[in-house]
Amino acid sequence: MRMPPFKLHTPNSLEEAFEIAKSIQSEGGDFDWIAGGTDLLPNYKWHLNPKDNVISLAKIDVLTKLSPTHIGAMVRIQDLAESETTHPVLAKSANSIASILIRRSGTVGGNICLDTRCYWYNQTEDWRETIDWCHKCDCGTGADCRVIPNQNTLCVATYQADLAPVLMCMGAKVHLISVEGKREMPLNNFFELDGMTRNKLIPGELLTHITIPKDISNWSGDYQKLRQRESWDFPEAGVAVLWKKENNKLKELRVATTGLESIPGYHDELASNLIHDWNGKASISLLSEQIRKAVKPVQNTWYSTSYRRKMVRVLTKRACEGLLEV
Ligand SMILES: Cc1cc2nc3c(=O)[nH]c(=O)nc-3n(C[C@H](O)[C@H](O)[C@H](O)COP(=O)(O)OP(=O)(O)OC[C@H]3O[C@@H](n4cnc5c(N)ncnc54)[C@H](O)[C@@H]3O)c2cc1C
Ligand code: SF4
Repeated sequence: MRMPPFKLHTPNSLEEAFEIAKSIQSEGGDFDWIAGGTDLLPNYKWHLNPKDNVISLAKIDVLTKLSPTHIGAMVRIQDLAESETTHPVLAKSANSIASILIRRSGTVGGNICLDTRCYWYNQTEDWRETIDWCHKCDCGTGADCRVIPNQNTLCVATYQADLAPVLMCMGAKVHLISVEGKREMPLNNFFELDGMTRNKLIPGELLTHITIPKDISNWSGDYQKLRQRESWDFPEAGVAVLWKKENNKLKELRVATTGLESIPGYHDELASNLIHDWNGKASISLLSEQIRKAVKPVQNTWYSTSYRRKMVRVLTKRACEGLLEV
């Protein structure tokens, strides 16, 4: 597992980063941004689509700001989990990510932009050669997708990051910057239903920070996760539920899932349709069953798809337990 050679660039500011990016692109080259490197570097070692150039965001101070309504892309996951200003549900999901060592290096931006995963893909180069590669890293062979064959256009690798579903329920926005300027969008609109494209970032664009609405402290909720080993595994399924009440009455309810498709799922209508006739346990059971039906996992992670879907119902019920106090 030798690391392929690449040139590492370490700019001190966003301006310098984009000058480097422009010069690489003008020479017809390609690059990846690197934040903590906890995902990118293992992928490079397995020769999963490595680039000749890597631009580090580590020295760009403006990306490290953390406040109750602003999370810089280079905020370390452990710092987010430990901060007193972090909403408890977001802190819980951050704390469930990998192990403390990975959380100390891994960043919020890297977690949101995490590459999708698939057991036909996240393997060594030798292993992948024995199965004649696959569409996401076909090594010039035009190989097909192993999970949904005979289409050769779509990759259905799974998005397995924990922060996104909670941030989606919080109504978070992502802020992006490229040589063409700045833009922002709700995190709910950021992802692209293709395991290779992954999200709306255009080539050379990066995520600078995430903003969270000011009223988030009025929301309660929970995050529940299914994984093989509690010590550090990726989510095989994850369910975030957030709610807001007024005068002890449920006013708003949001549900999002992860680890089940190429993008995290935001189940806005399913949740809000139930509020009007909310009936405690019965409504929670109905919601849990509806979320189970809404998710469409494919067989490319450790557990079977039927088990993951069954567990989505269980996780949703568990995440809604606090609602019984409403
Ligand atoms: C053993 C192990 C267990 C893990 N378990 C979990 C888990 O349980 N839950 C979970 O959510 N994750 C898990 N992870 C993944 C880990 O959370 C991510 O590796 C981490 O969040 C990625 O952050 P990073 O800063 O290291 O990103 P990097 O590895 O540096 O980058 C990841 C990707 O994001 C891109 N990127 C990084 N920052 C930006 C930016 N600001 N703008 C645009 N693109 C950017 C990079 O180009 C790259 O494609 C695990 C990883 C390992 C190795
Ligand atoms: S979903 Fe298909 S194309 Fe994507 S990584 Fe897996 S086997 Fe490859």
